[in-house]
Amino acid sequence: MKVFFPWAIFTICLGIIFEYLLIFFRMVAMSAVFTMGIDVGSTASKCIIMKDGQEIVSKALISSGAGTSGPDRAIRDVLEGSGFQREDMGYILATGYGRHSIDWVDAEMSELSCHAQGAFYLFPEVHTVIDIGGQDAKVLRVGKGGMMESFVMNDKCAAGTGRFLEVMARILEVDIGQLAELSEKSTQKVDISSTCTVFAESEVISQLSQNTDICDIINGIHRSVAGRVSGLARRVGVTPMVVMTGGVAQNSGVRHALEDELQVDIHTSELAQYAGALGAALFAFRKAKKRNG
Ligand code: ADP
Repeated sequence: MKVFFPWAIFTICLGIIFEYLLIFFRMVAMSAVFTMGIDVGSTASKCIIMKDGQEIVSKALISSGAGTSGPDRAIRDVLEGSGFQREDMGYILATGYGRHSIDWVDAEMSELSCHAQGAFYLFPEVHTVIDIGGQDAKVLRVGKGGMMESFVMNDKCAAGTGRFLEVMARILEVDIGQLAELSEKSTQKVDISSTCTVFAESEVISQLSQNTDICDIINGIHRSVAGRVSGLARRVGVTPMVVMTGGVAQNSGVRHALEDELQVDIHTSELAQYAGALGAALFAFRKAKKRNG
């Protein structure tokens, strides 16, 4: 009896230790990886936290971009929304025009690759992405797994970008979010023929002074943007499924004008403006997995 007891206790303790080790290893294997994608754009800062590269846990958008407090505020908001600290992130990847401004991220990546990846997450059948942001417009050809194959870009001139629409909305004294609804009420075709923002501005002012219906002017502005961007799209080739990303995707007036120009259905999502941040969070997950072996 005296000899048997310690052995029994030893065996029970071993069993308990083994059980705890099993639970521990199962928890490690099952523990989720959270990644953050930050898109520091020219006009807006977008941030997304994803779980295991699959599920969006938190997102934040601030309507000011590179060189402002926008990126910091978007990061603070996305963390608050998730209940996490920055240290809880498995990997943080920055993209966008102002991506170099954040020095503590794990990596940076071009917004071209991130938009293609984000569009692929939203629409796995995507082959062409039309991204119209605040300062540029890009058309991307997307291949297997959402990898960007080729692109054309206009970043030299404001025409055909969100900035052009912002300037026009200001002259017309309407909110940028009202443009689509107003353009739907258009009954007469008005052409805004200038390809330069400054001259187009004068054209719009001249139309206003002739009492042209503001809805017709807005419709003309949307067709002008669509004309510029469809020129880019034809250079890279338009293969369905076509997906529109970037902030301007929220303007259905521009999207419909592009559909008319290109004679193709264009899909979009309420997450369109987050596509770059989404792609960044997805690439971050791949990099986290690689780093952790
Ligand atoms: P960037 O990444 O260059 O900062 P975004 O892709 O975030 O650009 O898009 C910003 C643009 O989106 C703005 O210039 C504006 O034209 C457009 N935009 C933002 N909000 C809206 C809205 N509610 N409706 C229509 N357009 C919008």
